[in-house]
Amino acid sequence: MRIYIFDPIHQIPLEEAHKAGDVIIWNEDGIKEYEDAEAIIVRTKTVSKELIDEMPNLKIIAKHGIGTDNIDLDYAKEKGIFVTNTPTANMNSVAELAVTLALSCARKITMSDRLTRQGIDTLAPKELTGIELTGKIVGLIGAGRIGQRIGTILRDGFGMEVSCFDPFMSEKKANEFGFKKYDNLLDMLKDVDVVSISVPLTDSTINLIDEEELGVMKESSILVNTARGRIVNEKALYKALSNNPKMYVAMDVFEVEPPKADNPLLSLDNFIGTPHIGAATEEALIRMGNTAVEEINLVSSGLKPRYIVNQL
Ligand code: NAD
Repeated sequence: MRIYIFDPIHQIPLEEAHKAGDVIIWNEDGIKEYEDAEAIIVRTKTVSKELIDEMPNLKIIAKHGIGTDNIDLDYAKEKGIFVTNTPTANMNSVAELAVTLALSCARKITMSDRLTRQGIDTLAPKELTGIELTGKIVGLIGAGRIGQRIGTILRDGFGMEVSCFDPFMSEKKANEFGFKKYDNLLDMLKDVDVVSISVPLTDSTINLIDEEELGVMKESSILVNTARGRIVNEKALYKALSNNPKMYVAMDVFEVEPPKADNPLLSLDNFIGTPHIGAATEEALIRMGNTAVEEINLVSSGLKPRYIVNQL
């Protein structure tokens, strides 16, 4: 197998890739020649129709991560190329980040750090008064692998009640987790204290959180987005946060990535931003890379990969 790795991966799976075939790895200018690729590993690189057409021998596009919105799935399917992802490799890491961000909002951690560094005359100044999560209600938008993990951590660790909005999750499954299922997003947003987004970016989730949705949320609510940037309309969010200092929002993902320093949201005290670090832990990086290489090994042996995203 001629394996091209377009984005940096962890050293351990890189060694596995070398055992799996001839490996050409990323460089600072990007890989320029890849016509003979049979397998590619990508993280954030856009895999368009045009790029696919430049690799006539391609058999598998192995996504290192979960979201495959950077890959033209339909065209890959048309060409008989497997697209795979690593669905379980990073769910703990992303869920742990979502919980960290919710707590950081509740306790104003980034503002506390900034004020402490600047030098402060009073202990626990009034503007750093936070809220507890214990006993509050979290609303999950998307209750798949990551959403479920966030819900169970907050339920078991903080005694939070968990609600969810996920049209593809059955009432029975929601009940098994002890989650209250809503069929209407606005109804859930009105009732909960913390909102956490874990849905894929699709035509139906672009701007899922817009002016109307932000408008019905509780005044002192917390919103965490670790899914994809365009799911929240940033203009509407800026307006909502500017008008309501009691609302706190944390996002690991942005409409434009990497996020620019002049993004207006970053000028607000009630906003926390991180640069798409959800899956950036040692453990997840190793698991994602290893899974991507395992999928390539299966295809190389003439077998079907385990995590096919574009059912061929
Ligand atoms: P998953 O497929 O297990 O779960 C997604 C859930 O969203 C499913 O239960 C699905 O039914 C639900 N859903 C789909 N459309 C919906 C809609 N319109 N409204 C409500 N629910 C809807 O995926 P996951 O592993 O939980 O990951 C979720 C997303 O998180 C990924 O698609 C990816 O974009 C993002 N992600 C981000 C990072 C990061 O670094 N920040 C890392 C991994 C994944």
